[in-house]
Order: sequence, then structure tokens, then C-alpha cells
Amino acid sequence: MRQPRYPQKMVRFTVLASGSKGNSTVISTGRTRVLVDAGLSCRELFRRMKLTGEDPQTLDAIVVTHEHQDHINGLSVTARKLGIPVYFTEATHRAWMRWISPRRQMTYAQWVEMCRRQTAERQAESPEPEAEADEPEAETASVAPTPPAETASATAGAPESSAGSSGKTDPTWLPAVEYFEAGRPFEIGDIHLSPFTIPHDAADPVGFVFRADGVRLGFATDLGYVPPNVKAQLTGVDLLLLESNHDLEMLRDGPYPWSVKQRVLSRVGHLSNDAAADFLENSYDGQAAYVILAHLSENNNLPELAKVAAERALNGRASLLANHLLLASQTEPLSSIYF
Ligand SMILES: [Zn+2]
Ligand SMILES: [Zn+2]
Repeated sequence: MRQPRYPQKMVRFTVLASGSKGNSTVISTGRTRVLVDAGLSCRELFRRMKLTGEDPQTLDAIVVTHEHQDHINGLSVTARKLGIPVYFTEATHRAWMRWISPRRQMTYAQWVEMCRRQTAERQAESPEPEAEADEPEAETASVAPTPPAETASATAGAPESSAGSSGKTDPTWLPAVEYFEAGRPFEIGDIHLSPFTIPHDAADPVGFVFRADGVRLGFATDLGYVPPNVKAQLTGVDLLLLESNHDLEMLRDGPYPWSVKQRVLSRVGHLSNDAAADFLENSYDGQAAYVILAHLSENNNLPELAKVAAERALNGRASLLANHLLLASQTEPLSSIYF
């Protein structure tokens, strides 16, 4: 673990970006720094981290909530550049690999067979253990090879890799992969992570409660509704980051095609302002010092509408006067919150 740069007793929460064009948040303690999703380009992530006073070089890991592009845009480049592990659920990792693979048009069965063949070819070629898409558990976080210069999208367009190609030409290659499961808490350094399943149209999407130094941070975006398991997870948190994606009327009258509107509105889509407000009014326990509205749609929402709906929901509750209500932005980082 790297040398502490901050006093030991401090938890810091910094939303770098939030919205359909990219999501990323840094959670740091005196000892550990974790990037939650890498939805911006690596360059932009680094720029925003520096703006907020976080040093990208001190990141220990990237944790991925789900494989949608606005959460993984800069993932492989960032992980490679820093030589740090990426934490996924297995299903999310596989979905990400399929998405990034130049042959993602193939069927799932064909894709599994290809992975198996490539792994066997690599193993036959080299006695050195190498990053294997199929066997990420074998990797360790200490592996930090020099990354290729290309971005994932650039390599994704490259010709098919030949038999025995090195990991560095494989667009799905990462310095190290660690698997976690919803419902099974784990730790990265001194940050304790409790992943929980959320209803969203991805392979295995999760929200998190992060805990460090006795501070609990609830994190839930990209969910079609708030089911009981999510309500249970989001109790007793000191900070709540909650999706407030769209205004129902703006979505209904807005530019999206009908099918996309249906997807957003569905039980595996995104939380509307009304749904977020309903949760805040009727299910939320009012314990958090900070409530951050996140993943606001640029086309189907206005910050004022999201804020007014949440304020109305919170103001109805006398115990919530100490709440700070903040809005995460797509275009600039939110000022760090310290505990
Ligand atoms: Zn998203
Ligand atoms: Zn999503």
C-alpha cells in the first residue's frame, strides 16, 4: 500500500463526473484510493482528479458497477497506465470483454470458445503466467507492466490477434482482475465495500455501500426502481449518492425514440426525479449528512427540477434539516466531501 498523503482519519468522496456521458467517483482514505467506474477518457479522468487535488498515480484500484459505456469508457487505458487491478463481478467482466472484443458480433458460445482457445494458445506458447481473460484470479495486483499506447477502442478495431498474441495486443487485457459478488462484502486496503444488486439492464449491475473509518457512503445510480434490498442497504449512511435521472414529462415529450423512452422508464432503466423523491420521502431514513443527486439526464432533466423534487421530499421531514443536498455534474467535478 502506498504511503499516506492525508491524515489517517479522513474519508474523502469526490464525484468527478456523473451523467449519461460518463461516471466516475474517487473514494479515498489516508491509505487507500479507489476509483468507482471509469466513464471518462483516461486523460479527462486524470485532469479532473488533478483539479480536485487527487493524484491519479496514487489510485489503488478501479471498481466497476456495470459494463455500460458511460461507466467504462476509460477503463482499460486507465488501468493499464496505472498498472492497477480492476474489480468486477464475473458477469460484468465477461460482458465488458464481449463489448470490447473486435468480434463481439459472435454468439456467446462462439465467444466462450474463442476465449478458451486463446487462453490455451497463450499457455502453450509461454511458461510465464500472463493476464488471461479466463483466469483473472491468477493475477496479482502487483503486476504493473507498461501499457500499450493505443486506447481500447483503437485496438478494438485492430485485425484479429493471431495465435499466441501477447496480452498487450488483446483489447480485453488488464493488469489484474479481481472478482466480487453482490451480497458478499470485500475490502480494498482499508475501504470495506458491500456490493448489492440493482435493477438495471446490464449483465450484473451493482450499487455499493463503502465503509471506512466508521463512515458509510451509499452509492446507487442506474436503477429502474428502488427495490427492498436497495432500501435496506441505503439505511444508516452518512452520504447518499442517488440517481435522479429524468423528469417524466421532459422524457415523455423529449427527443428520444419511443423504444428508448420505454427502456429508460422500465423497471431496469433509470430513476426519475419523482422516484428518487419518493424514496427520499418515504423510505430513506434521513441519516445522511449529504445527499447527492446523480446521473441527471442532459436531455430529459434540468438540475432545478431534480433539486426541487428532492428538496420537497426532504423538507417534509423534520429530522432532515442537517442534510446538504448537492447535484453531481457531467461537466465538472463536485467539490470533495470530507468526513
Ligand atoms: Zn449510467
Ligand atoms: Zn447503465
